[in-house]
Amino acid sequence: MTNVNKKSVEDISVQGKKVLVRCDFNVPLKDGVITDDNRIQGALPTIKYLLANGAAVILCSHLGRPKGEFNMKYTLAPVAKRLSECLGIEVALAKDVVGEDAVAKAANLKSGECMLLENVRFHAEEEKNNPEFAKKLADMADIYVNDAFGTAHRAHASTAGVADYLPAVCGYLINKEITIMGKALADPDRPLVAILGGAKVSDKLNVINNLLEKVDTLIIGGGMAYTFLKAQGKGIGKSLLDESKLDYCVEMMKKAEEKGVKLLLPVDTVCAKSFPDPIDAEIETVTVSADAIPEDMQGLDIGPATRELFANAVLSAKTVIWNGPMGVFENPTLAVGTKAVAQALADSDAITIVGGGDSAAACQTLGFGDKITHISTGGGASLEFLEGLELPGIACLNDKQ
Ligand code: AMP
Repeated sequence: MTNVNKKSVEDISVQGKKVLVRCDFNVPLKDGVITDDNRIQGALPTIKYLLANGAAVILCSHLGRPKGEFNMKYTLAPVAKRLSECLGIEVALAKDVVGEDAVAKAANLKSGECMLLENVRFHAEEEKNNPEFAKKLADMADIYVNDAFGTAHRAHASTAGVADYLPAVCGYLINKEITIMGKALADPDRPLVAILGGAKVSDKLNVINNLLEKVDTLIIGGGMAYTFLKAQGKGIGKSLLDESKLDYCVEMMKKAEEKGVKLLLPVDTVCAKSFPDPIDAEIETVTVSADAIPEDMQGLDIGPATRELFANAVLSAKTVIWNGPMGVFENPTLAVGTKAVAQALADSDAITIVGGGDSAAACQTLGFGDKITHISTGGGASLEFLEGLELPGIACLNDKQ
């Protein structure tokens, strides 16, 4: 597991220092206009702290997939503009990443000032974690701060490589992620209940395996539950099946029993004759017991008895970790199970942690954002964290004494 005992911006002196901050400014854009600035808002506490404490702040990020070439479709100009508005000071955008303009602007930057480098992925060296490129980034600064949890599972030049050349600490966003998720896995208030959903078992193999070492109850819903039901010998009709993972599911059910972990699977399911097409089309459904799925139907959401079963498990927990929807939540008729889980987390007094991606979006859409202890800012990164993997963007930071 990633060592989460890392220095943060508050553990070092930044006065008079040039600080390179890796942020996640990979914001959604439509015709050059930012349609959701949550990621920019999320980065502000670290930036404001550094400015208020006398640092000269050099920001960097990726945006989209420019594939290693300068492509102004992916310029960070809209981000620089929004940052200037949010901070109330001009955030100058360099014309390049480690070129003449960036180096000159960084050299002239004074305490309390802030600038933004162009999209780090304009260079193929970024994703290759090229040491010379990382060194060029590092040469502009005295300290490195990583605050981009969404890319912390990637060993890129700006997310990890640069830490080879500079003192390296985390910002507030990453600090919150590792503090809350680290405690939930290493020293949780119990009972610890994890809820996994989403499409495929194969995407969450290591998450299931690792969580079985830690949790008191593991709940499995969503498309992946049907492979488990099949592994129990139940007929699942045309429901999603990861045929090659049947043995794995048997093994995990055995492991749960051996470890004394309660494994909860759906006891009823909402079925339809076919997958909705388009995905939000009106759909006719029937609710059946999990051992009576008709052969010509597929399970697309958890049923009411399962909603109650899962919600009760959440209500008895002291820590809850949730990752992945309970059904085809993109369709309003099939979003009921996912909403019920989100509601149970919102109603719970436990420490509630929602992994990024679909489940995070469900909580935000339902307006539960402020009722959840922590909604992770990184889908892939939070999954790798739950897998017990070491995240390069965190491992590279300096340990607390
Ligand atoms: P993931 O990316 O693994 O988190 O999976 C999310 C996707 O799983 C969503 O697009 C859901 O529509 C899909 N999903 C959830 N439950 C089911 C199900 N019972 N059958 C098919 N797809 C599902």
